[in-house]
Amino acid sequence: MGAQSIPLPRPTEVSAPFWAGCARGQLLVQRCAACGWYVFVPEPCCTRCTSFELEWVESLGQGTVYSFSVVWRPQQPAFDTPYIAVIVELAEGWKTLTNLVECDPSEVYVDMPVEVTFRRMSDEITLPYFRPQTKQVRKQS
Ligand code: ZN
Repeated sequence: MGAQSIPLPRPTEVSAPFWAGCARGQLLVQRCAACGWYVFVPEPCCTRCTSFELEWVESLGQGTVYSFSVVWRPQQPAFDTPYIAVIVELAEGWKTLTNLVECDPSEVYVDMPVEVTFRRMSDEITLPYFRPQTKQVRKQS
């Protein structure tokens, strides 16, 4: 898999807590303490009311496919094709652009239930991907 060599994000002062969360297996999102709005991508102030009172909260990491596109021609040869670019609408109501993994491109659909899954790419970067939700809850025997 060529995924090890894909271009990786470079954390900034504003986005560093998000990437640190991913490294711990937590999907974090900023929430405005003044108006309750979820802010993503990371910003210095609320994109609805401009308050600087943003706090990091952990997302459930579950949502549905809002929109998707199957990519057959990569923008760089490092990307293995086909891959599924998706906009996921999280249960909390915010959206993120990501890739759907562990899913055949012919099976993705709008409103598909999905959940976050993390892939460690380097010492610094763990990427949040999404995969079809596993509906069955394992029972302890
Ligand atoms: Zn706000």
